[in-house]
Amino acid sequence: MRVLLLVSLFFMASSCATNNSSHNPREYQIGAYLWQQHSGEYRALTYQAYNTARLKIERDLLDKHNKKRAVIFDIDETVLDNSFGGAREIKDSKAWSESLFADWVKLKEAVAIPGALEFINFLTKERVAVFYVTNRTTEMYQDTFDNLVKEGFPVNKENLIMMNREKSKETRRLDILKSYEVVLYVGDNLGDFNKAFDTKSKAERNGAVDQMKELFGHKFIILPNPLYGDWERIFPYDKSKIEFLKLTP
Ligand SMILES: [Mg+2]
Repeated sequence: MRVLLLVSLFFMASSCATNNSSHNPREYQIGAYLWQQHSGEYRALTYQAYNTARLKIERDLLDKHNKKRAVIFDIDETVLDNSFGGAREIKDSKAWSESLFADWVKLKEAVAIPGALEFINFLTKERVAVFYVTNRTTEMYQDTFDNLVKEGFPVNKENLIMMNREKSKETRRLDILKSYEVVLYVGDNLGDFNKAFDTKSKAERNGAVDQMKELFGHKFIILPNPLYGDWERIFPYDKSKIEFLKLTP
């Protein structure tokens, strides 16, 4: 596996060098993409997340609620793996853009994250409602719907909720809460869980994670996503200026 990773890395690095004599704007992501696509550890973490989610639901089914139970899922890097599209862009030294992502969505080639489909089928069997609250745009509705169906996920007009105006998912979550008891939130980005994480600085969002530490693995189920996320906003636009944390002497 290590040889495979090194060979892949070499080819990606050489491809970057030949396609663009200057800096590859996505170079800092190469290790992350290789890890998500090749490591057993990535798969083990997604299974761990979904096994934990199942345990929480099995425990909750013993309780009574006034409203019907529901689980809210994010889509990208939570139930669908988009790494193939991004990896192709990195090989071509293309900076991320909304139009490139829109092109990828049209292909409908994202695949199910390990463990996601089994967990959602379990919810359906137990009559727990499933909602997908995504920041894919309304123009992407049909392609997203088709991609989810292609991968076997239960989806309908009511449970696939796209981004309309607000990037924050808070209003969409509150709409669901009017009629449902939301037992779990499942996502890869902190904004999938609570508005306290929306548009915050690094210190604020890390502080909010510490404040809500009891909720992770209980109310919030987080999937690993080393590829991208709101955490990247703390970096300067020019990714060549990224620095690692330094140890204080
Ligand atoms: Mg996501």
